[in-house]
Amino acid sequence: MNEERKAILAQARPATQAIRGGQTRSHEQEHAEALYMTSSYVFDSAEQASDTFAGDCEGNVYSRYTNPTVRTFEERLALLEGGEACVATSSGMAAILSICMAFLKSGDHLVSSRSIFGATTVVFDKYLMRFGVQISYVDPKDLSAWEAAIKPETRLLFLETPSNPLSEVTDLRALSAIAQQQQALLVVDNCFCSPALQQPLALGADLVMHSATKFIDGQGRALGGAVIGRRELTDEVLGFLRSTGPTMSPFNAWIFLKGLETLSIRMKAHCENAQALAEWLEQQPLVERVHYLGLPSHPQHELAKQQQSGFGGVLSFVVKGGQKAAWSVIDATRIVSITANLGDTKTTITHPFTTTHGRVAEATKLAAGIVPGLIRVSVGLEDVRDLQDDLARGLAKLPAD
Ligand SMILES: *Cc1c(COP(=O)(O)O)cnc(C)c1O
Repeated sequence: MNEERKAILAQARPATQAIRGGQTRSHEQEHAEALYMTSSYVFDSAEQASDTFAGDCEGNVYSRYTNPTVRTFEERLALLEGGEACVATSSGMAAILSICMAFLKSGDHLVSSRSIFGATTVVFDKYLMRFGVQISYVDPKDLSAWEAAIKPETRLLFLETPSNPLSEVTDLRALSAIAQQQQALLVVDNCFCSPALQQPLALGADLVMHSATKFIDGQGRALGGAVIGRRELTDEVLGFLRSTGPTMSPFNAWIFLKGLETLSIRMKAHCENAQALAEWLEQQPLVERVHYLGLPSHPQHELAKQQQSGFGGVLSFVVKGGQKAAWSVIDATRIVSITANLGDTKTTITHPFTTTHGRVAEATKLAAGIVPGLIRVSVGLEDVRDLQDDLARGLAKLPAD
């Protein structure tokens, strides 16, 4: 991409960057980004092949290393997160594993929020522990707990903010100061906000990671992930990826480029629908509690307002009557999908206690606020009045208390 255009895009607003960012045109002058569905690349001569393999001249060798469609996605996402560089991965979990493999070794210590994606906990507890990495879990809201958990061997702090399913927020500026004191890397899973609502690097994070499967695709079609940050750090992740293979497929990168083009406008609409649904739920007599950052009743409403530019598309609420009541509200829906996926134009509904957190010990769940009556909704882009009607079907059938 020519340098003038690059400089202009670096200064452009996010909605523009999401549509125009990255090298988007080959010599064929195509308007939509080209899909380079190729595993390898050819050379004009043995000498050129030799130079390219040696890294003495620029060029593609093999799609486990580089692919032009994937590179455009990486450039665009780096721009949106305000990071120097981005590496794309085959899924969000591949992004997490690659970060761990790049920066942790036997004897190191990791401090993680206790409110993280279930498979992330498995990576930490089942696999990292096997290689001699120690892990401590803390309440993500409690800065003194983070501070107390840090040891001389602590190398990495990991969290999601806002968290799933209760939308707990961690003060990233304050936590980054704590991480810096220990010279530990602060890694933020920015899946719930996407770069359209929150840019953790600007708040002091060292690395941001994504499951592109969620809001970045936005339409539930493909799996992917990414790691964004200073090039010296992403290069370490890239080294692991290139040698081991969990890189992004060009086809998926092409899907995500289309997803990014509508990210700004979709996130605005997700936030609006979630806000309206949360306010409506708060009025329902059989709803005990609503967890949504856009409600002034959320204990971290003010903090979310400071570090996010919107409150996001995911909410949860507790119905009176426990698991039986929660299941009957879910089963009465006719429009929303009963699935644990999120970040989709289609609204999804799930019962965390028995699905995403089904294998977590009951006492741990209850202590964290994941109660049997809790329902999580990833609010999509349907007309919110139809979503209200869909939830009202089940709520109307619950016995009044
Ligand atoms: C889905 C998800 C992941 C894992 O991403 P995959 O693309 O499914 O591998 C990680 N973190 C969060 C917060 C997620 O929601």
